[in-house]
Amino acid sequence: MRPPETRTYIGLGSNLQEPLKQLQQAFRSLAMLPGSCLVGRSRTYISDPVGPPDQPCFVNAAAALNTRLGPEDLLAALQGIERRQGRVRGERWGPRTLDLDLLLYGDHVIDSPHLQVPHPQLHRRAFVLAPLCDLDPTLEIPRRGRADVLFSRVDATGVRLLEVAHDER
Ligand code: ATP
Ligand code: CA
Ligand code: CA
Ligand code: CA
Repeated sequence: MRPPETRTYIGLGSNLQEPLKQLQQAFRSLAMLPGSCLVGRSRTYISDPVGPPDQPCFVNAAAALNTRLGPEDLLAALQGIERRQGRVRGERWGPRTLDLDLLLYGDHVIDSPHLQVPHPQLHRRAFVLAPLCDLDPTLEIPRRGRADVLFSRVDATGVRLLEVAHDER
């Protein structure tokens, strides 16, 4: 029997090598994951870097993905997409061509050495909560509360909506 579909949310970020194109390619790759269906794309945001400040701004977005992959397989698939787009593991929170974080996996709470869900920083980060609210402001973050309420509590001054001309999409 096929495993059931679970609604998951994925955070996308890039600040190297044409970040907007990196995100567009990542959305295409997410849409092609086995057993999965890309069901939502947020708007795109530009955010001041967290961590080392001597790096370019980030471009951020979020995806809603229905998937039959389990959480571990999904994480491995996301890391495969990062690698194919040239991700090199450097300093913590340093610049990268593509970062894919598994933000939510249904209402599961996972705390293993290499996978924590909900993503442990999600409720503190405006650059994650803004695109999540595009997808569903009423989204319940297990143990944290509603996405829109969390967003209203964080400092969003470093996060700006990217206006993209229609024909660039
Ligand atoms: P942050 O997690 O604070 O956003 P980061 O995205 O820069 O930082 P990475 O270097 O991309 O961190 O990932 C470090 C490790 O985090 C990965 O090897 C992975 O095993 C682990 N990890 C734990 N939980 C998650 C998750 N929910 N999504 C993605 N990676 C996770
Ligand atoms: Ca991250
Ligand atoms: Ca990551
Ligand atoms: Ca809801």
